[in-house]
Amino acid sequence: MNLQYMSTRNPKIRATASQAVLQGLAGDGGLFVPEKIPALPVSLGELKGMTYQETAYVVMKEFLTDYTEEELRSCIARAYDSKFDTEDIAPISRVDDTYYLELFHGATIAFKDMALSILPHLMTTAAKKNGVDKEIVILTATSGDTGKAAMAGFADVEGTRIIVFYPKGGVSRVQELQMVTQKGNNVDVVAIHGNFDNAQSGVKELFGNRELAEKLAAEGYQFSSANSINIGRLVPQIVYYVYAYGKLLENGEIQEGEKINITVPTGNFGNILAACYAKHMGLPVGKLICASNENKVLFDFFRTGTYDKNREFMLTTSPSMDILVSSNLERLIYQICGRDGEVDADLMGQLQTEGKYTITDAMREQLSDFAAGYATEAETADMIRKTYEKAGYVMDTHTAVAAHVCEQYKKDTGDTTKCLVASTASPYKFVKSVLTAIDEKKYGQKEELELLPDLEQISGVEMPGAIREILDAQVRHSRECDADRMQETVEEILGLR
Ligand SMILES: *Cc1c(COP(=O)(O)O)cnc(C)c1O
Repeated sequence: MNLQYMSTRNPKIRATASQAVLQGLAGDGGLFVPEKIPALPVSLGELKGMTYQETAYVVMKEFLTDYTEEELRSCIARAYDSKFDTEDIAPISRVDDTYYLELFHGATIAFKDMALSILPHLMTTAAKKNGVDKEIVILTATSGDTGKAAMAGFADVEGTRIIVFYPKGGVSRVQELQMVTQKGNNVDVVAIHGNFDNAQSGVKELFGNRELAEKLAAEGYQFSSANSINIGRLVPQIVYYVYAYGKLLENGEIQEGEKINITVPTGNFGNILAACYAKHMGLPVGKLICASNENKVLFDFFRTGTYDKNREFMLTTSPSMDILVSSNLERLIYQICGRDGEVDADLMGQLQTEGKYTITDAMREQLSDFAAGYATEAETADMIRKTYEKAGYVMDTHTAVAAHVCEQYKKDTGDTTKCLVASTASPYKFVKSVLTAIDEKKYGQKEELELLPDLEQISGVEMPGAIREILDAQVRHSRECDADRMQETVEEILGLR
């Protein structure tokens, strides 16, 4: 029997895994969730010594049950190969008593590569399986990292096109250069005059627009999504938590069955939700610690039970977390309301109309697996400087938000459980903010790109290929549009008008 996926807003809207990967979002605007979370098919002891690819297979086959073994193994082999600069794929660095799970060793040096190197393969396989004859148009809103990782994954993949929207002025210089220099005959990048939430809600509207869908179908196109609302993103992200546990066991850092806490720098709530799914599969995880920057909507939600996006949008040095509407939280809401599509739809309706909703006490009780905290800009910078001075380890701004929250959590609770911090980006991607945090006087006046050799020198980590690549690459994309003209822009790009 195949595992079924259903919409968070209506359990009658169902799909197989491959159909859910193809569609991205459910037809009613809900998110696809598996009808149940499968148990890990291997014992914890068996995780020891497994490669990343083997771990990926045992985890993913439980979720993507309508893919054959051969299909899944082929997707995995093509995704997790020499695009990563280490055979470990996701190595762990220990600094004092904290374990940093480095998820930035892929092609675009942010954790989005972990899922976006496999999503195109899962999607083209799904298209074949389901007899799709249309060209798949991937529409993606990005706060900076998803866009590049998705383009790198989909560039020149036959049968696909990809259009990425990013907030102009809302991403780092390195992030922007990475995107506007992207090669590939099927990629387009658009800077919108607005913030990430505008981009994300614009993309969601395009997905929900039936008239547009018909127009596209007539021209031989259909939309899909590479955002973390796609279960083809979520499932591959569960893998590295299971893999990390196996590695910690293998290296004698933990005992079999010992619980670990996991701190995740959070934006759209995808990465931490994957950790939550890993826990439900049976991985010994204590607390899931949700770390926010100054856009602390999630911190307030966990503290009060009210999700309220009516607040000022802050531009911070951790731009990939500058988000006020965390899409994947809907999957958690669905879980804690007893998997009731009507309750979920009602709360999401309130979010749409009033910008906020409050969950019941009974729902709040279900959140005991979670803890939450946030880091101010000053705390984030302090964490980077302190860790560098103490241990010589240079982390990026997003990871620093999580490291700060993790430290604060330990102080506040006295919880001595070992902690894994999801390290989501290479410091090279945010070199200006990172070096300014370390020594403002010395580095604060220099241009972002000028600072790259300085970072190489102080961190002792060689400049990654992803950075060398952009230094003399040609700018290929310069399209911009207003946030309310995204539909027209898409139609122009696809030649529909
Ligand atoms: C996307 C991103 C995040 C946030 O992850 P979510 O899954 O959206 O919560 C954190 N850090 C970096 C570097 C990212 O690119």
